[in-house]
Formats: sequence, structure tokens, C-alpha cells
Amino acid sequence: MTSLVEIDGSQGEGGGQILRSSLGLSLVTGRPFRIARIRAGRKKPGLLRQHLTAVEAALAVSGGAAEGASLGSLSLGFHPGRVVPGAYSFAVGTAGSATLVLQTVLPALLLASGETTLTLEGGTHNPWAPPFDFLEQAFVPLLRRMGAEVSVVLERPGFYPGGGGRFVARVVGGRPLSRLTLLERGEVLSRRAVATLAHLPRHVAERELATVRAALGWDAAETEIVDARASRGPGNVVTLTLSAEYVTEVFTAFGEKGISSEAVADGAVAEARRWLAHGAPVGEHLADQLLVPMAIGAGGEFRTGPVSRHTTTNVEVLRAFLDVSVAIEADASRVATVRVG
Ligand code: ATP
Repeated sequence: MTSLVEIDGSQGEGGGQILRSSLGLSLVTGRPFRIARIRAGRKKPGLLRQHLTAVEAALAVSGGAAEGASLGSLSLGFHPGRVVPGAYSFAVGTAGSATLVLQTVLPALLLASGETTLTLEGGTHNPWAPPFDFLEQAFVPLLRRMGAEVSVVLERPGFYPGGGGRFVARVVGGRPLSRLTLLERGEVLSRRAVATLAHLPRHVAERELATVRAALGWDAAETEIVDARASRGPGNVVTLTLSAEYVTEVFTAFGEKGISSEAVADGAVAEARRWLAHGAPVGEHLADQLLVPMAIGAGGEFRTGPVSRHTTTNVEVLRAFLDVSVAIEADASRVATVRVG
């Protein structure tokens, strides 16, 4: 099927994910697409540097062609070529998220036979994007469970606004992606809170971890301060990792000027509490990010908390490119079962 897919970039959640999923699915299916009204409702609409890098990455791995691939562009035509595994480097050039560039090209590289090494530069720890630790601890292990051979290594963290982070992703493509069944969480087996600091006073991390211990009742032995001195600019992130029998989830909150360390930690605690309370294995962010790998593989099912607009919007993009059934069924407490394929 190579017919042109028409995408409305302002539908549903209306953010950059519509573009990235479209690029990824276009590479996988070989179907060209046209997207209009890219990020139309956002404060700075159109292609930002991060989105443009994602387009460039999709072009580079496939030798395709695009119209409208420029900063600020509200529409884009994309014609994928054949995906060729190999060694590629992509730099966002700002603190824009480098992990979201990986999210764009990874599905196609998982399917293309051969080994790929991607060196990605930009932000590795950004609000509103998957932080590197989430990729490494939560997302990639589930891809491996599906049979994918993929690993990620952080070389240098990059925070907003300094950027300059770098990580390497290695993918051995062509392995069949098996069904993912993730209906139970199992017992929480370990918990870890890390306060990462780059070029900021240590008391910031100490106060954050004290807040986490008090709020969640965790021991000092479960908390750690990491000094990210390799970072180009200042940065602070609180990362809570909960490893249960069948899934690991990662919740993060970022330090910002004018926000107290206690309030930063409270943000991560609130996310972790929501996940602990709903009892389903898959958290809000994992839910929207698992859809594409499952749909291009053998499908599967998972249980998650209240379904986000990122998830429902991503389902619409999947349906535009693939003949795949996706069913979402929520119970009275809004815990949902998502079935793909
Ligand atoms: P825009 O600027 O248009 O909002 P964007 O391109 O930065 O968009 P979104 O379309 O909002 O991004 O998509 C963000 C992606 O990052 C989603 O897949 C979301 O699940 C993921 N994400 C956001 N925050 C986190 C987090 N704390 N942990 C893991 N993943 C996250």
C-alpha cells in the first residue's frame, strides 16, 4: 500500500508526536504522507529545531524526500525511501529533545535487517519528553521483552537550556517483534530516588530527596545524589524508579528557576503516587509510546491508568497508516485495557 496518507497535525493532542509517529510509520510502511497544521495550537507552532531534526533523521535513514522541511513550517510532505541500517549521527543543535529523535526512527530501524548505531545529541533530560533514564529503564526493556535487540548508553547529559547532551543507541534490526502482554504489575520489588545535579548547590538535591523520603516513606539507602558534572550547563532532575515484577516505571520532575526543591520533588512524587494508586502496570507515558512498536509487531495488550490524549491521538495516527485494530476499554475507576491487533 503506497497511497498518500493525509494527516491533520492539529487533531487531538495536537503536538509534535503526531509528526513523529507519522514519520516513523511512513518509514515502516513505505507510505508517503502530507501533514498540515503542524502543532497549530502550540505557543510556537510549526516545526521547531527538535521536530526538524526528526524529519532530517527520517530522511537520512531512508534516503527519502520532503517538502516544507524548514523551521516554523506548518506543513510537510514526506516520501520515504528504503530504510538502510548503518551509523548515523543527529544533533538537535539546541536543548530540544534528542530522545524524541530516537522515538521517530527507532520503529523502522527495529524492522530493517542490519545493525544501526545512532549518536544523538541535544537534550537528554527534558520536561515534556522521555528522559534518558525512562528510555533506559522503562521503555527499552519492554522492547527487549518483545524480542528487539536494542541498547542505549548515555555519554553526557544535556539539560534545558544548555543542551549538548549525547547518547548512543544500538539497534540490531530484523528481529520479529512478539506480542506484548502487560496486564499485571506484580509486587514492587525495588525503589530508587535519584536527584541529579549539574553545576548547582548540593542542598538542592538534599532537600529534594528529603521530600521524597518524607512523602513516600522511602529509606535513605533508596536515595542517591548524582553529580552530572559532565553536563555543559546547569540542570536538576528528580528521578523515581519503581521496579515491579513485570514492569519498571520511571517518574521525573525537573528543577526550574523560581520553583523550590520541595515543589520539584513533589511533582515526581505525585506522578509515582498516581501510578501506585491505579495499580495498572503501564504509566501514562509508556502507554502512548508502546503503541507504535506493538502495532508494527505482533500487537498485544496492556493495562494502564486513565488514558491520555497523547495515547488516543497516537491511536488515530496508527489507524491512518496501518490496517490495525486498537481497542481501549476503561473500567469505572478509569483503569484501561488497551488491545492492539
Ligand atoms: P509539543 O511541543 O508539540 O507539545 P513535543 O514534540 O515536544 O510537542 P509531544 O507531542 O507532547 O511532544 O510528545 C511528547 C512525548 O514525550 C510523548 O510520547 C510523551 O509520552 C513523552 N513524555 C513526556 N513527558 C514524559 C516523561 N516524564 N516521561 C516519559 N515520557 C514522557
